[in-house]
Formats: sequence, structure tokens, C-alpha cells
Amino acid sequence: MSELSRRRVLGGGFAAAALASFERAGLARGLPRPVQEPEEWSNWSRSVSWRPRRVVRPTTLDEVVTTVKESAAVGETVRVAGTGHSFTPLCATTGTTVLLGSLGGVRTIDSEGATATVGAGAKLYELEKPLREAGFALETLPDIDRQAVAGAIATATHGTGRDVPSMSGLVVRATLVDGQGRVVECSAQKDPAMLSAVQASLGALGVLVDVTLRLVPKFKLHERTRIAPFDEVAADLQSLIDGHRHFEFFWVSDRDACLVKTLDPTDEPEDFERQDDEQGLTGERVGSSGKIFPSQRNRRFNEIEYAVDADRGLECWQEIRELMRGRHQDITWPLEYRTVAPEPALLSMAHGQRVVTLSLHQAANLEHGPFFDDAEAVFRNHGGRPHWGKMHSLQAEDLQQLYPKWGEFADIRGRLDPQGTFATPYMRRLLGA
Ligand SMILES: Cc1cc2nc3c(=O)[nH]c(=O)nc-3n(C[C@H](O)[C@H](O)[C@H](O)COP(=O)(O)OP(=O)(O)OC[C@H]3O[C@@H](n4cnc5c(N)ncnc54)[C@H](O)[C@@H]3O)c2cc1C
Repeated sequence: MSELSRRRVLGGGFAAAALASFERAGLARGLPRPVQEPEEWSNWSRSVSWRPRRVVRPTTLDEVVTTVKESAAVGETVRVAGTGHSFTPLCATTGTTVLLGSLGGVRTIDSEGATATVGAGAKLYELEKPLREAGFALETLPDIDRQAVAGAIATATHGTGRDVPSMSGLVVRATLVDGQGRVVECSAQKDPAMLSAVQASLGALGVLVDVTLRLVPKFKLHERTRIAPFDEVAADLQSLIDGHRHFEFFWVSDRDACLVKTLDPTDEPEDFERQDDEQGLTGERVGSSGKIFPSQRNRRFNEIEYAVDADRGLECWQEIRELMRGRHQDITWPLEYRTVAPEPALLSMAHGQRVVTLSLHQAANLEHGPFFDDAEAVFRNHGGRPHWGKMHSLQAEDLQQLYPKWGEFADIRGRLDPQGTFATPYMRRLLGA
């Protein structure tokens, strides 16, 4: 990390007060914290806990096959857990919890085809160095890079960018073990429909063992962050989205201010960093994409996120703004606003549609229910699709209205998991029996 120049350009007043709001929400850069394995299994925010009958840590493809067959034979459910960063009970089971931490790593890099095959249990942050050393990078990453590759793919985890897909959009091939313990190879050449289903499959089609990801030549990013009032960002929104490869903002209701963040490719020298406030929230820096994309989240929270058609983003934000400046003034956490390009993954929030995503947060130890319920009503009015890994109340009958290829996914699920080996009560509620 380069030496920071502590040039203080913001002074007091509006911007400084707004910075305090963002700092309270834990957005300042800090050190990553390890995710611990509690005795009773729970997710990152501790909103979900479960006691599996057994926890299996396969080290080979054959061990994954054996595990699934054993469970299927006794009619027990199997759920893979990545790093448990989902806020919903996707990983919970009373049957078998599968952990693929030993099936990680970058296995091969095809320089000519610009792809890498990685173990499904690899953490996103583990990919950066080997890919960079081979001259490559991932086109996008989410806010944090602690998730497992397969966990991120399974829920169509995304970063931001008008023309940038989610992590699911990077998947060009995968090996999975289906609900009967059969090894299935998926690729666009073999079966494009199956690949589109597997690209965002919620662990409902099988245990992903390895995936092949599309790469881009390694690149550097210039990050700029600044505080701007609501009116300015609302007025310039489309030109900000169009004018930067990666654009997002965090808006806080108490100051009606945005922390605007843009990331653009650059050839400038690396390791430049200028911090404009003491908390490290505003300023500029240049570095390799894998270093610049991810942030740290140092305070635990719960989150709801919906994707709405890109044309409805501003209106939707304005309605949420009214909610947060009216009935829910107690919520001090920011709204995060991002964009995702359309992509073929059947159950991606951005399936066939350019979307804006709006995320709302509340501290993990505080009540989120009434706020999330009211916000969800706004999102649903705009035809929004919920993020699979974040809190929502939708069930299969609601969700099937939102996804034009729902039936295609259901058929593939029927073929790959006819006995319901991956179908816990929560998964049945979500995807149907
Ligand atoms: C602090 C924080 C920041 C976040 N930032 C973002 C963000 O910027 N953008 C975004 O879109 N989301 C974000 N999320 C949500 C998160 O990225 C998703 O919930 C993601 O799915 C979590 O990955 P994971 O490895 O923890 O998976 P888990 O939560 O453990 O599992 C998610 C799903 O993946 C399945 N799965 C995992 N491994 C496999 C496998 N090998 N085979 C088959 N299925 C598998 C599980 O069964 C489950 O259905 C964030 C969450 C937190 C807590």
C-alpha cells in the first residue's frame, strides 16, 4: 500500500457531515476479517442458522459423487455452502452440508481462449494473483471478494457497470455433480440451455466442482470517490452511468447526500493514492483491477436488494428516498445503486434486461423487518427481481412471473435433480416442488 497523502480538501459543513454518515455504515477501507466457522452453522450476518446431520469436506470429484449418492440413497437433502455470505436460508439443511474449501485454486489458464478453470470452492480473492501473473483478470467483481467462486455464481452476484455482466455472465463451462451423483459437463457447445441454467443455479441443480470463467487482459483502474448532493446526482445520473465503465453511489437519507464512486480503466502508473478525508472515503487511487474492485465491510448488516429495469431506476430510488426520509428516518445505512448489463443466465436478475440494482441495509443487531417490507412493496411495484442471496419474501408463484425462462429452468432442474436431493423446504418454497 502506498504512502497516503493526508490532504484534507473537504473541510467542515455538508461534505464532512455526510462523510460521518458513510463512516458509521462501515464503508471506510479497513482490514478484512476472517469468516469464522461457528459450531452451529450460520451465515455471515447470523440471520440464518442450521444444524446439519453431517458436514462433509470432499477433496476430490469422486468424494463429491460419493457424498451426493449417500445422501440421495437415504432421502436426505444436500446443500453446498460457499462462505455463507447469503442473507437467505439458501445453505441451510438438516441433512448434509458440503464445504468445498479443498476444491479451490486456479487449475488451468487457457491463454489463447482467455479462460481459466478454477475449483468451485476457490475464494474470489484467491484468483487475483495467478490470473494477473498470467496477464489476465476478471472483468468484474462484487463489492467484496470473500465469497467462494461457486457461491457468487450461484446467486448471480454482481458488481457495477452499464455494460458489465454479473459473475454468472463470466461462466463458459462447468462440471457439476447432479442430484443422483452423476458427473455433468456443461458448456455452450454441448447444451447452451443447460449452461444458462447452471450459470445462476442456487445450488439447485448440483454441486459445482469446477467452473471455467471468461477472462480479459489484465487492466488497471482509476477510482474516484466524492460526496455530492442528491439533486446533482439525480440530474446527472444517466451521464454518470454512460460516462464510466463502473459507476455506483451510496446515498444516505439524513444528509440527502451520495458517495459517488467511479472506476475507469487507465494506463497511469500504479500505486497512486490520494485520500481527501481522514476516514479514507473520498479521494482517488490507481491499481490493478483485482485490488481496486473489492472493499471491506467491517460491520455486520442485513440487506435487501432488488433489480429493476434500468429505465425505472431513478423513479424507484426517488420512492425509496421518500420512504427513508419519511416513515423510516431511523435507518442510517446507505442505499447502494448499481447497474448490470443484460445476460443469458436464466435466473440472473439481469436475465435479458439491463437493470439497476438498489440495495438497502440495516445493522444486523437492529430490526429490519418493517423497513424491508415497505421497500419491497416499492420494488415490486416496479416489477423488480430480488437478489437471490439477499432478504426478500417472494415465493415460486411470484418469482415465476418475473423470469420468462422459469419453465426452462424447472425442466432442467427436473432432469438434474429428479429426487429433490438439493430441495430443502426453503428451496421448494423458492423454486417450487
Ligand atoms: C458483506 C457482503 C457483501 C456483498 N456484496 C455483494 C455484491 O457486491 N454484489 C452482490 O451481488 N452480492 C453481494 N453479496 C451477496 C453475496 O455475494 C451472495 O450472497 C453470494 O452468493 C455469497 O457467496 P458465498 O460463497 O458466501 O455463497 P453462500 O452464501 O455460501 O451460498 C450461496 C448459494 O451458492 C450455492 N453454492 C455455493 N457453492 C456451491 C457449489 N460448489 N455448487 C453449487 N452451489 C453452490 C449455495 O448452495 C447457495 O445456494 C454480499 C454479501 C455480503 C455479506
